[in-house]
Amino acid sequence: MIINPIDIDGDVTESCDVCIIGSGSSGGVMAMEMSKAGYSVVVLEEGGNYTGYSLTQREPEMMGELYQQRAARTTKDLSVAIMQGKCVGGGTVVNVADCVRIHDEVLRKWEVEFGITDMTPEIMKPYFEKVEKILKVERIKESELNGSNLMVKKGAEKLGYSGETFDTNREGCVGCGYCLLGCTYDKKQAVSLNYIPMAMKDGAKVYVYTRAERVEEKGGKAHKVNGTFLDPITKEEIGKIDVTAKVILVAANTINTDQLLLKSGLCNSSGLVGKNLILQPQTMVSGIFSEKLMSHRGITQSYVCNEFEEVDEERGLTGFRLEGSFGMPGIVSSLMGGFGLETKELMTSYNYLSAMMILVPEEPSGEVKLNKYKRPEVHYEMKDDTKKRMMQGMKEGAKILFAAGAEKVALSYEVPALLDDESQLSIIDERGIEPCGQAIMAFHIQGTCRMGPDSKTSVVDNYMESHDVKNLFVVDASVCPSTSSSHNMVAVMAMAHRAADYILTNKEKYFS
Ligand SMILES: Cc1cc2nc3c(=O)[nH]c(=O)nc-3n(C[C@H](O)[C@H](O)[C@H](O)COP(=O)(O)OP(=O)(O)OC[C@H]3O[C@@H](n4cnc5c(N)ncnc54)[C@H](O)[C@@H]3O)c2cc1C
Ligand code: SF4
Repeated sequence: MIINPIDIDGDVTESCDVCIIGSGSSGGVMAMEMSKAGYSVVVLEEGGNYTGYSLTQREPEMMGELYQQRAARTTKDLSVAIMQGKCVGGGTVVNVADCVRIHDEVLRKWEVEFGITDMTPEIMKPYFEKVEKILKVERIKESELNGSNLMVKKGAEKLGYSGETFDTNREGCVGCGYCLLGCTYDKKQAVSLNYIPMAMKDGAKVYVYTRAERVEEKGGKAHKVNGTFLDPITKEEIGKIDVTAKVILVAANTINTDQLLLKSGLCNSSGLVGKNLILQPQTMVSGIFSEKLMSHRGITQSYVCNEFEEVDEERGLTGFRLEGSFGMPGIVSSLMGGFGLETKELMTSYNYLSAMMILVPEEPSGEVKLNKYKRPEVHYEMKDDTKKRMMQGMKEGAKILFAAGAEKVALSYEVPALLDDESQLSIIDERGIEPCGQAIMAFHIQGTCRMGPDSKTSVVDNYMESHDVKNLFVVDASVCPSTSSSHNMVAVMAMAHRAADYILTNKEKYFS
């Protein structure tokens, strides 16, 4: 049952077996598993419930409703825009439906370097399979590549670079191109269409427009969540909710989870809550072609040149990926760099553009703190090695677009660079990568409540239970000790299934 506070008179007190904070990738899995096992479940979700035609395809309206901080979340120095979902389904509603497992090498790195012994490729395989079955994951067909992605493929193939189409959780996609605003046609298999309805069928209550403000412990055990009801329009406080639960699962995603735990003063004996932030930065390189590509139509992210992606057991995931990509005018213009008339001029080429995102996996490079208003403040400094790989990626991206026939290639600096040919690529070395010097976005944020066996070097244990507070689990993207994967929805969901299995296997411990 979806419960909207606008329909409630007064404050609410709930008592249940499991309270879940957040209803995205991880919260959705947990809600389904816990309800199916017969436990009473209350989910608190800060955003609203949007499916079908309530997803209006209006960029200003939907970006404000579906994203954290109305899509204006950034690092403190404004150098990286941070995109995270805020609605029933969280990131799975607004993401571009790329489905990638955690590489075996990364899992082995986690075992050897971080002591996460029981998350081997063999153990994780059935969890990946379960997620992929429910999300109906399949490979995008070559015939489904849109204008932008076809150019990336053409250029990569001309240069002899490897590439492939993505695995995706779309079923019956009509290629409208609005994925980043949620799928009006309910073709993208967000957890709001599968896991959450399954949970509700088994009795879960989902409070929307309800923000968890604080978690309380009692005698070293999870005890209560204090929440605020928000007016769906103004987002002003209109009431309060207290949920007493035997088990509390924090599934709010990196940054939000850090804010909640820091505000609550919990789970931080290691001093590591908020530390080891991984943003996995991305920048855009675009090519202007003579023919109309209409790249905002079709599946906007469908082909990746993976020639430069590297993965091994020592370093984990590294190198960079060149992902054919596109979007609506607002997000494309904010990724093109420039300001005012410059950007307007570049945007006159919108129908003729092919673009790609240079995705750079990185080592932990930042920290989430609270400001004086107890709101999250994201401190981030890109490491030299990440900068080097991003610059190399920009060069390779430009080469691919020229090879595909681009007349010009645009680099998204503060003052954009419009290149006529490859001889001008030296500008990338000249300008380097400076904070706020170019448009950079992050979509796969992780790492700030790292998992591990040692309470001095991690926030949660190998099954995501807090070292400090029993029965309190962090089950979202923040537990990853290093970059889990190039796209982390499936990774997070599979890890949540594993944590759910652990809780249910040990039910006497948690529910007696
Ligand atoms: C635009 C975009 C594109 C992406 N593309 C892909 C992709 O193609 N493939 C891929 O694998 N990954 C992609 N990702 C990343 C992926 O969707 C996320 O990393 C993943 O969903 C994280 O899962 P989570 O459970 O940690 O958090 P989320 O799915 O973000 O869910 C967290 C939920 O908690 C809620 N919440 C937060 N704080 C509170 C609070 N205090 N009280 C109540 N509720 C709260 C939020 O509103 C949100 O709904 C993309 C992300 C974005 C934003
Ligand atoms: S492109 Fe496909 S999955 Fe994306 S919003 Fe349109 S119909 Fe839905």
